[in-house]
Parts: sequence; structure tokens; C-alpha cells
Amino acid sequence: MASDFHTHFYRPGVTALVNGFSADARFWSLPFHPWETAEFTMPEPEKLQACTALGELGFDKFRGAAAWPEKQMEIFRNFLELASDCRKPVVLHACGSFELLYKSVKPFSDLKLLFHGFARHNTALLEELLRHGFFVSLAPALISDEKFRSFLNSHPGCRVGLESDDDENADINEFYSRIAVPGFEKNADDIFREFTGS
Ligand SMILES: [Zn+2]
Repeated sequence: MASDFHTHFYRPGVTALVNGFSADARFWSLPFHPWETAEFTMPEPEKLQACTALGELGFDKFRGAAAWPEKQMEIFRNFLELASDCRKPVVLHACGSFELLYKSVKPFSDLKLLFHGFARHNTALLEELLRHGFFVSLAPALISDEKFRSFLNSHPGCRVGLESDDDENADINEFYSRIAVPGFEKNADDIFREFTGS
């Protein structure tokens, strides 16, 4: 089935969590990207109810609409509280500090959190995120990294999937077949269903 954990484009016939409202998509998330979000704002109740997840939202040390780190972390915490109240999973854009990320999400152990666009060529960091309970979707750049292939081979059942993000011409089926880890695509489908609650 090839689940796309985070995309900015609705594609008919593809199982995907689409960033932003889409009348056609079965799964879509309500974004408050830290590049654009300078204040916490309460979403419209209908949208909040209808969305699959909140996000992408989070923080970005290098590019944020609000001041780093206090204001960005305050906004982030408000959204985590909202997600917890309305029992929605969260798609994270978290850039600049793993320590702040771990500290911020600690009180929200009930939340399902997807660290999207993981792009570091560092499997120890991936393992750390998984240990902290995150779902992780890997950036396309890691598909051809042999270290990741062998990590996934030796960690069957881990909470990892793939995504096409903002690449309009990406083909998620091709991503999964290129990474070529036995059982990985099927496991990612299960993980996608767990994250979206479907
Ligand atoms: Zn994105």
C-alpha cells in the first residue's frame, strides 16, 4: 500500500497524511508551521474536529516567525496541550535542539508524535528518537544510505516510515521499493494506521 507519512500534495489512490486541508484526502493535518506561526491561535472548531492530526508544527532555531527559543517553545507547548485535549496526533517540525524537543514533549506521554523529515545520516539519533517513543518518517535522502537499510533490517517493527514531503514529482511506491528492506513497507502501513488511528 506504501504509506506516505507526510506530503504537501494529495494524490488519488495513495495512502498519505496530507499537510493542510484537502477535501479529497482521507487523512490530512492542520498546519501551524513555525516559519509562519508567530502566535498561538485556536483553530476553527470544525477544522479541529475534522483533521486527522495537528501539524506540521513545532520549532525552528534557524528560521522561525517567533523569537527563539522562548516564544517558539511557548507556542509549541500550547499546541501540544491542545492536541492532548482533543486527542489528535502531532506532526512535528523540530529543528535546532533535540534537548528542547525531549524536554517539551515529556509531559505529553499520551500524545502520538511524528518526527517528520528525519534527514541526519546518523542512525544513533534515529534510535534515540524511537527510544523516546516518537514515530519517525525518513527524508528521501536517506533511502540510499546503507546504514539505514541495515538499521531497518535489524529493527523489524520499529516506528519508521517514509515520506515525500514537498516534492511534487515524488513517487512514494518507488521510495519503498528502492529502500528494499523485507517487511518494511508492510510494517510502515501498520505504523501509519497506528499513528492516524485508522
Ligand atoms: Zn512538510
